[in-house]
Amino acid sequence: MRIIDRIYIGGQFVPPQGEEQAPLFNPATEEQIGTVHLGNAGDVDRAVAAAKNALPVFARTSKAERMAMLERLNAAVSARGDDLAAVMREEYGAPAAFVDYSSKRAGSVFLDMARTLEGYAFRRRIGTADVEMLPSGVVAAITPWNSNYGFICAKLATAVAAGAPIVIKPSEMSALQTQIIAECLHEAGLPPGVLNIVNGYGDVVGAALSTHRDVAKITFTGSTATGRAILRAAAATLKRVTLELGGKSPNIILDDADLDRVIPQVLAMGFINSGQACIAGTRILAPQSRLEEIEARLVAALAAFKAGDGADPAVRIGPMVSRRQWERVQSYIRLGQQEGARLLAGGEGRPEGLERGWFVRPTIFADVRNDMRIAREEIFGPVLGLIGYRDEAHAIEIANDTDYGLSAYVFATDIGRAKAVAERIEAGRVVINAAPHEPQAPFGGFKQSGIGREFGVFGLEAFLESRAVLA
Ligand code: NAD
Repeated sequence: MRIIDRIYIGGQFVPPQGEEQAPLFNPATEEQIGTVHLGNAGDVDRAVAAAKNALPVFARTSKAERMAMLERLNAAVSARGDDLAAVMREEYGAPAAFVDYSSKRAGSVFLDMARTLEGYAFRRRIGTADVEMLPSGVVAAITPWNSNYGFICAKLATAVAAGAPIVIKPSEMSALQTQIIAECLHEAGLPPGVLNIVNGYGDVVGAALSTHRDVAKITFTGSTATGRAILRAAAATLKRVTLELGGKSPNIILDDADLDRVIPQVLAMGFINSGQACIAGTRILAPQSRLEEIEARLVAALAAFKAGDGADPAVRIGPMVSRRQWERVQSYIRLGQQEGARLLAGGEGRPEGLERGWFVRPTIFADVRNDMRIAREEIFGPVLGLIGYRDEAHAIEIANDTDYGLSAYVFATDIGRAKAVAERIEAGRVVINAAPHEPQAPFGGFKQSGIGREFGVFGLEAFLESRAVLA
């Protein structure tokens, strides 16, 4: 049993004033593996005061000093890759390939942001104005459980580049990861107060940050419902707000696609992080003329997506993060059947041979209509819906007929056609034929998938204020 009984304020690990504790579980075994002691509004006051205190000096650091800090942060986090991988397996029960990939890349966001910073001009002459870009003030970051340390690193990297001290409230469900990351970040030796981490519940610590007078900016990644609550809470003090929220991303197969190559990629995007990803391509849009063939190929390709204990290298789908989430996903599988969708694969209950652990059968529904709730609401599990379209215009209409707009995927042999479709999709990111990630590109959502962008210059500017001096 691991006990996490410290939070990080002003460069030191200190006990929280809060008296609540939360259990930590291994979702693959349902066993309790630890306890985290949670902070309260008093801890938020202490952390924000430490950040505010650090602001004047940190805001004046040079680009070279900030770049050196980002490089130290990368080195410290990269050195703990194995420890991070171990807790990701415990805390998420995540599949080995996913754990290896994400733990090895954990520090890279610091280097990516150093690259952004290198090319960025904080002072510009625009017409008759001298324009200076200044840190926005104290930043508060609130992160979800599903890539907790990834978001901690990404938001800290941006804050350091901008010269803005930060208070982070990580997901209370991922405290083991948070602890390792906090140790790495401490190791990197940032000036005291530049980084503060307060574990706690959203409606306590998250809410205190969202209303705090001395917090200038909130950067939030999580569900759309929580994003709305934060936006409302932040309105009283007119905080700058970046929201990275949910999605119901279309996975569009054009009729010239090479199905041998494409179908495994379609499933990989649908089942990314066991379906627990904001960018999961959960609506598969396929031409009606090839529907039967695509159904058969999806079922065949599903054999490669085994659910189970992440320690088994053949496993691609891990458990849901909590019992609550497992029950929620089960209820959507029942709902899909009630709504008249046809189970092509998977279904309710646990995968065969897995009596313990919050595992779900990888599920694909056919005969899905875009007005069904399973096609409109974020399920956050390995549940995909196959929707037929008549022609490209119809595919685009279905793709855009959603409250969300985070990501989209287009698969085609003719890249020109795929690009023409991409240009008509209402989403912050459209990926053609599983193209690799571009760390300098902006990331964020249209519509109810969020407000603002992260990464690269777009992310950096979201943590800055401009001042124009006219003489
Ligand atoms: P969540 O919204 O339940 O929680 C996210 C964070 O907000 C947690 O730290 C939580 O404690 C905190 N929180 C909860 N209530 C709060 C309140 N009233 N005030 C302030 N903070 C509060 O989300 P989750 O279940 O942890 O994560 C899954 C969700 O995150 C999914 O909807 C997913 O799509 C989304 N997500 C989005 C992105 C993106 O980049 N767009 C990335 C990952 C996850």
